[in-house]
Amino acid sequence: MPAPQCASCHKGRAALRRPRSGQALCGTCFCAAFEAEVLHTVVAGRLLPPGAVVAVGASGGKDSTVLAHVLRELAPRLGISLRLVAVDEGIGGYRDAALAAVRRQAARWELPLTVVAYADLFGGWTMDAVARSTAGSGRSRSCCTFCGVLRRRALEEGARLVGATHVVTGHNADDMAETVLMNFLRGDAGRLARGGGLGSPGEGGALPRCRPLQLASQKEVVLYAHFRRLDYFSEECVYAPEAFRGHARHLLKLLEAARPSAVLDLVHSAERLALAPAARPPPAGACSRCGALASRALCQACALLDGLDRGRPRLAIGQGRRGRDEVGPATGTSQEREQVQPPAREAVPAVPTF
Ligand code: SF4
Ligand code: ZN
Repeated sequence: MPAPQCASCHKGRAALRRPRSGQALCGTCFCAAFEAEVLHTVVAGRLLPPGAVVAVGASGGKDSTVLAHVLRELAPRLGISLRLVAVDEGIGGYRDAALAAVRRQAARWELPLTVVAYADLFGGWTMDAVARSTAGSGRSRSCCTFCGVLRRRALEEGARLVGATHVVTGHNADDMAETVLMNFLRGDAGRLARGGGLGSPGEGGALPRCRPLQLASQKEVVLYAHFRRLDYFSEECVYAPEAFRGHARHLLKLLEAARPSAVLDLVHSAERLALAPAARPPPAGACSRCGALASRALCQACALLDGLDRGRPRLAIGQGRRGRDEVGPATGTSQEREQVQPPAREAVPAVPTF
């Protein structure tokens, strides 16, 4: 059966059906619709005001590649300027290749790129060193959680270095839904409640952060990268297979097969949650070491580095109230700490899809 006409331009043949709506579109109309939806998310949410200098967290993966490309298209209309900030976590055999992809993108799109490294920022600690230090400690499966805390801090430092006023990250709707599920499965009401919305306004002197792709499905991010012929890095990090996120991702796929709206329903559910008074975290103050937002003496990143330096790595994520009190609730939203890893490799859907 021949492909139907594009439902938007009525000229070309449709090349895909949009996963959520089923609308048949040609590649050009799909990309235009995708960009218009991101523009709407940014404008309606007042995420990036005119004049903003925006640091794009660039990992070389499909999400941040698509985000940087779309924002570059929209930048003249939004009146913003872009800087790419990449984080070198110090993961042998993985990050070098991903950073090479970011460098190619920066050169092709003529965007300034700054790379910040864990080793320089965190007293010589790399993710490989953290993994060695936690091996056999019962924390060896928590690499991504450690990494998420440090990565958030590194991105903030990099953004300040380039004079950014705002930080954007490439988390898509599937990432967000996975985080909601993970927080449910851990019984972490505080992070569930803080995880709603499209970003954080920049409490405690932190730069405002947002996620312009938060309402875009992973499938459509992959399709956009395909039709725009974007060059991105799709290998999985060596520590990703151990992450708890993989279980949430698997569960989400099963849920989505039974109920296609499950991803967005979960994303929106986080926005509507209200915490019972007993579950609310204590009011935040400033970290005594670095000045970042913290509800205890040390912020999450400083407490983590302190534990590593003492040979006693500790985490407060995924523990009950007692566990949190040991090092204090982390700053910022759960997604930004927990969603730093690129999602597992997803094959480009066969196109055309008829
Ligand atoms: Fe860090 Fe991502 Fe690798 Fe986890 S998967 S260790 S968060 S780079
Ligand atoms: Zn601190």
